[in-house]
Amino acid sequence: MEIGKEGHGEARVAEVAVPRDVDRTFDYLIPEELRGRVEPGMRAEVPFRGETLTGFVVALKGQSDYRGRLLPLGKLLDPEPVLDEVGLALARRIAAYYVAPLGRVLAAMVPSGVARPRSRARPRTGGRTRAHAALAVPLNAALRALEELRASAPQQAALLQELLASGETPPASELLARVGCSEAPLQALVRKGLVRVVKKPAPRPLPPEFREPREEIALTDEQHRALQAVREGLRRGRGQFLLHGVNAGGKTEVYLQGVQDALERGKGAIVLVPEISLTPQLVARFRARFGDLVALYHSGLTEAQRAREWERITRGEARAVVGVRSAVFVPLPDLGLIVVDEEHEPTYKQDDPAPRYDARWVARRRAELEGAVLLLGSATPSIESYHRARRGGLQLLEITERAVGGPPPRVEILDLKGEDRLLTPALAQRIARRLKAGEQTLLLLNLRGFSRAVFCRRCRETQKCPHCRVALVYHYHGQRLRCHLCGRDFPVGRCRRCKSRDLAFLGAGTQQAERALREAFPGARVVRMDSDAVRRGQHGPLLEAFRKGEIDILLGTQMIGLGLDFPNVTLVGVLSADTLLDLPDFRAGERTFQLVSQAVGRAGRGPKGGEVVIQTNHPEHYAISLAAAQDYRTFYEEEIVFRRALGYPPFSHLVKITVEDVNEERAERGALRLHEALRSAPLKGLEVLGPYRALPYRVRGLYRHQLVLKTRDAEATAEALRALLREEPLPASAGVKIDVDPQSLVL
Ligand SMILES: [Zn+2]
Ligand SMILES: [Zn+2]
Repeated sequence: MEIGKEGHGEARVAEVAVPRDVDRTFDYLIPEELRGRVEPGMRAEVPFRGETLTGFVVALKGQSDYRGRLLPLGKLLDPEPVLDEVGLALARRIAAYYVAPLGRVLAAMVPSGVARPRSRARPRTGGRTRAHAALAVPLNAALRALEELRASAPQQAALLQELLASGETPPASELLARVGCSEAPLQALVRKGLVRVVKKPAPRPLPPEFREPREEIALTDEQHRALQAVREGLRRGRGQFLLHGVNAGGKTEVYLQGVQDALERGKGAIVLVPEISLTPQLVARFRARFGDLVALYHSGLTEAQRAREWERITRGEARAVVGVRSAVFVPLPDLGLIVVDEEHEPTYKQDDPAPRYDARWVARRRAELEGAVLLLGSATPSIESYHRARRGGLQLLEITERAVGGPPPRVEILDLKGEDRLLTPALAQRIARRLKAGEQTLLLLNLRGFSRAVFCRRCRETQKCPHCRVALVYHYHGQRLRCHLCGRDFPVGRCRRCKSRDLAFLGAGTQQAERALREAFPGARVVRMDSDAVRRGQHGPLLEAFRKGEIDILLGTQMIGLGLDFPNVTLVGVLSADTLLDLPDFRAGERTFQLVSQAVGRAGRGPKGGEVVIQTNHPEHYAISLAAAQDYRTFYEEEIVFRRALGYPPFSHLVKITVEDVNEERAERGALRLHEALRSAPLKGLEVLGPYRALPYRVRGLYRHQLVLKTRDAEATAEALRALLREEPLPASAGVKIDVDPQSLVL
């Protein structure tokens, strides 16, 4: 649907998306007194099935196709649109790809507390405007014209081509600079009706104190090369990069100077981090460098605080935003750069509620829509991103040398041998040595890890699905082992490989680790830090206490390690690498590699050096041994062979579908019907796995059945799925949750 500015004055009908699970928009009549004032991107109250909802106007029309009587639009909540055309276009793409209702997507993009601006005038630009060039004809016509111009007017052709390639409306002066020509050819294109010049608010210049880095920071050659590539991208208004940099290689400095460059060009920048309170040093550095030009945007903010930051951003007071995944939506005018730090982190994907979007996917589309540069960074890139870099979809930038820190730490892998006890004598001995020397210990465990894998003590194999090669999950009910990808199940009792009965049901150990530590070291100051034990926003003070040496042993999830330097930590232990390695998921190896790498990256940051201990039942597994050796590239080569052989991402997309109902039989029937309908859908290369009972099977009184789709074409599958859900209504009480590119197949 096109959003036209034309004819708003006569528009009588507003097309509105509502925040409900309906996959369509609704038409409302614009009352007389609101005519001429309603614009796409504004919110309005609308009557909907007996309640009053806040809906988003997504388009205006002269009349409606609806045959019945239209209800009138209620109170208009915004005097100005809260989302512009690009924002609305982005919302439509997210809705389409993630099979989410448009109204839900829009509600996720704009914090509900965002109030109407106090005055209609937008002070952000001080009234100055700048000329931008835009295509005035449809794409096909422009391409035809381009062919003709090539022979007759090469400069005009070059301009037109640059404009087409940029896919945006760049400032005219920038476009001319990119092509290197005078204004005359542009004017000629305007006269021919191919290009139009539109006025947009000009960005405010950067305050002088931020124009130069205040201290001269010497970059290594690798940092310098990476930064040059990003700068070149900013100059051209496009470019997508993967910065693969070792721990302590100085990625943050590249981000800082990249953002600096964007701001100097009058553009805005977004820096996404997995979790604000766990990355205090990165936040502090951005604050120190850019002061109040930085807005923080994270889950610890109240709705009102979030709305205030949103307004500071739209007014142009904040020019750079550091935030968690939802910050990818902030309405920065003239976006130049999006940085995604620790891009491999699963927290960039929203699990619940819909839209179940991935901020990395959104960042990529948004960068394309707005002519911004995308910079993904990680020491352990996701397999998908690294694969894309190998294939040329992302430009790979590498930092291989450590910029700071002492010698690399010693890494030791301890074999757990199927024991459920995680405080092994070997580890306890090492901790005791630290306590005596007044040094600190950091222990990582993964509570999001899964606790129902079955391990054979004789042949040392975790029980796996022979078809999918993911760990099988033990279901108490019926005593079965089930594959959460294909749904097949197997009897439990004997090892599937060697027939031994000596099986270990792993996972209980993690909960007991804290108690075991307290018992073993009664005088030590032990603190557990995870989302259960520490309320949101309290990570900061705890980490500070740890830094100051007020805690001897800190026990937490791998997130603790992100971007922190603890010089007095000389021992880092991974209590069990298997909580991730035995995940019933094809990403198990990748997650394990990341966890172990984090541990290795945390140790030895100070002059005392450090030691890393990894406890596992699979000491010879490549994800563990290669992470211990800090060899990402070899790990990638191994992992990609596995992914290719089984057709997993990046060679396919998965879609997890969960059907829920209060009635057990209806839930199952709904899943079966969906399964049949999908099987007969005319989609090439679509595999439909399941349905089977989800895990957990019953949540908040709802019975849950699950299907998994494996497809090469996510867009076509999403489209087919939407059409099908429209035609094939499930029992009215049933709910359907769709998760495209899920981070995990269980939970
Ligand atoms: Zn066995
Ligand atoms: Zn399977």
